Amino acid sequence: MNLTNGTSRWLLNYSLGMRSFSLLVIFTFLTLTSLSQINFPHLKNESFTYDQAIEELSKLSNFSPYIEIIEQGKTDVGRRLHTVVFNLNKEFDPTKIDRSEKAILLINNAIHPGESCGVDATVKLFEYLSTHEKEFENLLVVAIPIYNIGGMLNRSKYSRSGQPGPVECGFRANYQHLDLNRDFIKSDALNTAAFHKIFHAWKPHLFMDTHTTNGSDHQYPLTLIVSQRNKMNPILADYTYGKLENYLYRKMAEKEKEIVPYVHLVKSTLNEGIKDFLETPRYSSGYVNLFNTIGLISEAHKYASFQNRVEYTYELLNTLCVFSNGNSNDLIRIKKLANQSDRQQNQFSINWLLDTLTAETLSFKGYKMNMVKSETTGLIRRSYDKTKKITFPVPHYRNYISTEGVNVPRYYVIPQCYPKLIEVLNRQGVAIKRFENDTILNGGMYYLEGVTAPKEPYEKHYFHSEVRVNENFQSVRFYKGDVIVSLDQDARRYLVETLEPTAADAFFRWNYFDNVLQQKEWFSDFAFDPIAKELLEADERLNIEFQEKRNNDSKFAENHMDQLLWIFHRSKYYEPEHKRYPIMRVY
Ligand SMILES: [Zn+2]
Repeated sequence: MNLTNGTSRWLLNYSLGMRSFSLLVIFTFLTLTSLSQINFPHLKNESFTYDQAIEELSKLSNFSPYIEIIEQGKTDVGRRLHTVVFNLNKEFDPTKIDRSEKAILLINNAIHPGESCGVDATVKLFEYLSTHEKEFENLLVVAIPIYNIGGMLNRSKYSRSGQPGPVECGFRANYQHLDLNRDFIKSDALNTAAFHKIFHAWKPHLFMDTHTTNGSDHQYPLTLIVSQRNKMNPILADYTYGKLENYLYRKMAEKEKEIVPYVHLVKSTLNEGIKDFLETPRYSSGYVNLFNTIGLISEAHKYASFQNRVEYTYELLNTLCVFSNGNSNDLIRIKKLANQSDRQQNQFSINWLLDTLTAETLSFKGYKMNMVKSETTGLIRRSYDKTKKITFPVPHYRNYISTEGVNVPRYYVIPQCYPKLIEVLNRQGVAIKRFENDTILNGGMYYLEGVTAPKEPYEKHYFHSEVRVNENFQSVRFYKGDVIVSLDQDARRYLVETLEPTAADAFFRWNYFDNVLQQKEWFSDFAFDPIAKELLEADERLNIEFQEKRNNDSKFAENHMDQLLWIFHRSKYYEPEHKRYPIMRVY
């Protein structure tokens, strides 16, 4: 609590209750004095530290009855996440807000704290909201001013090589050395758990995550990622691409702060084109999209000045606020419709591939690029001549084609021996029921085939980039306390895209079920050999298959153990649990 601000509030109450013109004058003076005290560091090529940003937002919260700063769940460094909320109705409890009249915008900053322009831009946005509150009566803004607190505190001059400012900034990873923008499904960080709770408490219509990017050099201080169209619910996609996206590009150009789509190169140069970003749900905007929140990512340009990066990001946030306020009814309506249509949808796409045949053309403002000899290595490198601004056509690939779809079952059944998974589902507001008795159920069980694992871990996991499955219908025993999840709920899309093991960012791919990949029961050749003989004698078809295999595969025919194992795998001695994905699909 800031003393000056506390005093001003007390003065306000006192003046309204009893007196007096002079106290109001003092109050006004204090308010203006304090508001003008925000010294924006980006004007000097510096950035807010964690403490400074929270202090400035706390001051604004003290001054404005329409702004509240709230501490939320713990992060990996023990400190709690803050949210700062703007609401003209002065209601800051998500359980009490009137959802029929407010568009809700959630802003997330410093998930990568070396890319912190969004922190400074958010302070500036809330300063604006605190003095222009009447312009935003249909809007509720919730911002996480600093998401990766550990990374923000790990501040130095060396986090972002080649970035012209700010002088110091935070580090990309968090205290666990995790990239939090890969953690929204696997949920290794406490920050992620806190985010899940904040997100589901507010259920925003729009989400903006602020970043900074590199890769090539060009004239635009800010680029934009809009949640990939083909992955979205079609109602949401039509609105986002038919109205919101155009509005943002047009308004930013009118403000003489022109932006372009995120420069995501298809190959290695701009001339070969850029593509829309397929943000699967491990990323923030992909995650929110599973719940029909429109996801946006601002990607400031690393090689623009920090001042420009902050100013452009601020202007984009402000523009988004104006849009959301003016279109609140539409935003509320289409989220509802998208949720309803998801519940009717019986098939979902779970993997996509870039369509390289259809492209739009962007008129792109870049710099002349030359290939020059490196003075470090003596080899050829790229060089951008900033004195030579050029405009040239760039192919823009926007379309992704579904490569795999899946039929939605009525229920998933999850054994209780996966408590972390059940906890993650709980945080999404997924309604679950538990069996009151041991139960034998008949349903579809996937057998996992062709599972690959990399040699090096990625974000704490051996992510399975390739997974193939075969569904087998069988009876399985479940126990009292195991979990049954109906797909007839708002989390339907989320459940399919995380519990189907072949989906792009499925829990399975993130090693939640690697336990089933190992065979537990084996045999001794001398003891199993006579059993194998009996098995072949008792099953003519098996015997024919076995002999064919021996005839066609000389290596196999010469390997005693391989042959016994082949028979073992086709016998009742082989455990059905091996490579069986443990979640049942009930139709
Ligand atoms: Zn980033």
